[in-house]
Amino acid sequence: MASSVAAVVVAAGRGLRAGGGLPKQYRLLAGEAVIRSSLSLFAWHGEISAVQAVIHPDDRANYNKAAAGLRLLPPVAGGATRQASVRAGLEALNAAAPDIVLVHDAARPFCSTELVSRAIAACGQTGAAVPALEVTDTIKRVDADGYVDGTVDRAPLRAVQTPQAFAFPALLEAHRRAARDGREDFTDDAALAEWAGLKVTVFAGESGNVKLTTDEDFAKAEARRIASLTDVRLGNGFDVHAFGDGDHIWLGGIRIPHDRGLTGHSDADVGLHALVDAILGALADGDIGKHFPPTDPRWKGAASDQFLKFAVERVAKRGGKIAHLDLTVICEAPKIGPHRDAIRQRIAEIADLSIERVAVKATTSEQLGFTGRKEGIAAIATATVRLPWSW
Ligand code: MG
Repeated sequence: MASSVAAVVVAAGRGLRAGGGLPKQYRLLAGEAVIRSSLSLFAWHGEISAVQAVIHPDDRANYNKAAAGLRLLPPVAGGATRQASVRAGLEALNAAAPDIVLVHDAARPFCSTELVSRAIAACGQTGAAVPALEVTDTIKRVDADGYVDGTVDRAPLRAVQTPQAFAFPALLEAHRRAARDGREDFTDDAALAEWAGLKVTVFAGESGNVKLTTDEDFAKAEARRIASLTDVRLGNGFDVHAFGDGDHIWLGGIRIPHDRGLTGHSDADVGLHALVDAILGALADGDIGKHFPPTDPRWKGAASDQFLKFAVERVAKRGGKIAHLDLTVICEAPKIGPHRDAIRQRIAEIADLSIERVAVKATTSEQLGFTGRKEGIAAIATATVRLPWSW
């Protein structure tokens, strides 16, 4: 019979060292929280039946956002040390009594499906196995004054990573014993298992399975994640609103004085509506009317920036990134040119983009058709969206 396997994702640390104002496991990489990579890796892995996250109680809201839509056990609160947090996760899993448990640090978002499978296979053989890399740098011993004291033979050395895999009952028992003996100083589960007398073996780790700690780590990880967004999509959107009484219009998120207003259920921001449909089009995720039905009184007079924010969030939830937004406004009046940069700035703000990624253009229709007769304004938009490749 196949073993049942559970995963503990350790994310209770405060880890504010890398800046960004958030604990590092909740910082975004290309729009996705660092922790979500590990949670979804385990949640979707065919050999794993339960995923237990251990979080800091203050991070509950961040966690809920990062874990949205994934099939996970309810998170448990961690302790004062990493070791205490792992123990809390193991105790929470005890009712499910898995055969094998994988313990993984949330700050390693690039662990592959294959590495998880290798961890499970290695543990099935030996009962305790950790991913490791040979040390390729020359290692020196240095004294307190900064003088080299000797060169260490690196042949027997290994740099170890997570996920570390253990027979569940043995690891839980080792953790309980360590807690009873007042030992709270183990920095990884292998060290604790060694102390408890378990034989720990190593298997091949991955050089890409890095732990994010410094700002430089995050910058590299962001570039790596963006480079992985190979599913490039173009979406288009089109919208029209008719002129009616009024002294201003909303266009591209800004208020423009005019001798007419635009009629519509919301604020009739024809530019933002076209952009929303362009983004939803790139995601193949319905249209603005599906998500915000005009029959719903909640959207009466609503400011349209919330519709655009919604579409932008749908991209982030898919782990993607908007690369570019291009809006063309078609009308005889008002003149859009004087407002172009203000509109670009506002759209960039709403969509969390740099202004260089937002284009706004305007044209007339040479007095032809409804726009030519000044009966209303039309807008067309294109969105370029990058998503992780998945079938
Ligand atoms: Mg509309």
